[in-house]
Amino acid sequence: MSWSGWGDPAKATPLSESITTLLRELLGVEPRDEAPVALADIAPPAPRLGEDVLAALGKVAEVRTDAEARIRHTGGKSTPDLLRIRRGDTSQTPDAVVLPATHEDVLSVLELATEHGFAVVPFGGGTSVVGGLAPQAPAFVALDLRRLDEVLEVDEVSRTATLQVGLRGPRAEELLAGRGYTIGHFPQSFEWASIGGFAAARSSGQSSAGYGRFDELVVGMTVATPTGTLVLGRAQKSAAGPDLRQLILGSEGAFGVITSLTVRIRPVPEVKLYEGWRFPDFAAGAAALRVLSQDGPMPTVLRLSDETETMVGLARTESIGEGDSGCLAIVGYEGQAGEVAVRRDRTHAVLVSLGGTALGSEPGESWEHGRFGAPYLRDSLLDVGAFVETLETTTFWSNVPALYAAVKAALPGHLVMCHISHVYASSASLYFTIVTARIDWDEAKTAVNEAIIAAGGSISHHHGVGTEHKAAYAEEIGPLGVEVLRAVKRSLDPAGILNPGILVP
Ligand SMILES: Cc1cc2nc3c(=O)[nH]c(=O)nc-3n(C[C@H](O)[C@H](O)[C@H](O)COP(=O)(O)OP(=O)(O)OC[C@H]3O[C@@H](n4cnc5c(N)ncnc54)[C@H](O)[C@@H]3O)c2cc1C
Repeated sequence: MSWSGWGDPAKATPLSESITTLLRELLGVEPRDEAPVALADIAPPAPRLGEDVLAALGKVAEVRTDAEARIRHTGGKSTPDLLRIRRGDTSQTPDAVVLPATHEDVLSVLELATEHGFAVVPFGGGTSVVGGLAPQAPAFVALDLRRLDEVLEVDEVSRTATLQVGLRGPRAEELLAGRGYTIGHFPQSFEWASIGGFAAARSSGQSSAGYGRFDELVVGMTVATPTGTLVLGRAQKSAAGPDLRQLILGSEGAFGVITSLTVRIRPVPEVKLYEGWRFPDFAAGAAALRVLSQDGPMPTVLRLSDETETMVGLARTESIGEGDSGCLAIVGYEGQAGEVAVRRDRTHAVLVSLGGTALGSEPGESWEHGRFGAPYLRDSLLDVGAFVETLETTTFWSNVPALYAAVKAALPGHLVMCHISHVYASSASLYFTIVTARIDWDEAKTAVNEAIIAAGGSISHHHGVGTEHKAAYAEEIGPLGVEVLRAVKRSLDPAGILNPGILVP
């Protein structure tokens, strides 16, 4: 993972002529050199943990205090995180990186943290985009979980797999594919994010219409907390009281460290087919997605770009600004060949009846080819001085138009693109990408957060709360909700060493 950007530096995506033209003509961005400082020129301050503490940590886990390891565990991958580290800002750099190999190691690290008063930040893939890895603490360690990287069990009868949490998306899929199975969770950060991070941040993948969100796939878990171990989940559903798994899902490391997860698995699909559709406008496309979510049939991938996102996407094919491109939808099917054929035919009939025009497989193949590529483009845009960031929200279908309008109104004067990519019978999520020449992002983000809450949306559908959404989250759940969270925190982490300042208001 690049220390100052996204993913594998070898896959860096240079800006095409059409994107440079779009930046200049639409946004007034005059390309300039904003390349990051050199890694070797960044000097984090000396670790604030005493030699005795580091020695004690070294007895229970691998410990690294070298500058490179600490820099590589600084913050997450939001644009503000990247801009900070690109200019060599080490204000969010951990004092040490600790790499446990077992659940017991994690318990020992939490015990030492409670005894010596330093904070612990569970670190999966480090791809948080909500400030989930920057605790408010005088001294903290990044608890890098990469050595917890095994598939512990595959239960073919129940179609579940128990995985250690440090497995990254591709390795988990590779290990399960060897047995003929898939989890089916493919967020855009799939290549770098971890199984534990998917659960801790309630991630949602690009195939969520077919496979479900990650939290819907989790049926069991083991969690190390400063006050002991929680083992949860004896079946997919149970009436034995409130479901405590739901307290841990989305808890962003503030209540405990998830060390293993049992997730539902499905057979690797025989067929994958992605196609493009055009709708005359966003409202017509959204209505079609709603009908499919409510009355079926349900494709595996279902996403709809608004007019602006469609237009910018077409810039790649040199038709930028030409005529009325409408709105592009990608509709995909995965499964056994016969079942996919039937589902596709039925979906075609519904989409045509709702005003859709079939565009064939070319747009679908192009989407599949580039589905993990956009974050590389962000690095290139930052390199020439443009600003790019994303945010997302969710609401009931009846409120989608008002929420969409409210977010756009909160970001005047910038290029704001939107798509719907996660749908349910009652609700949908809206995902926005903002590209601009200049912006005070803290101010803009506060304005958007307030607009989302005022318009009745939830502050996040799948990125989580972190530090960036904490104030808005408090408004969303109200004072009593905040008190419940604090009570849970007090009982699982009485010394407050786990991710202080993240999630819990
Ligand atoms: C380019 C890009 C694209 C993205 N696309 C998507 C997307 O399509 N869908 C989506 O849902 N999200 C997406 N994200 C957000 C992010 O990838 C997800 O939130 C992901 O689930 C984080 O996983 P991670 O392993 O990187 O977690 P990290 O970033 O390491 O951690 C996230 C939070 O969870 C905590 N945590 C991590 N592991 C554990 C654990 N084992 N136990 C307890 N707490 C833990 C951390 O302390 C932190 O607070 C994207 C991010 C980027 C940068």
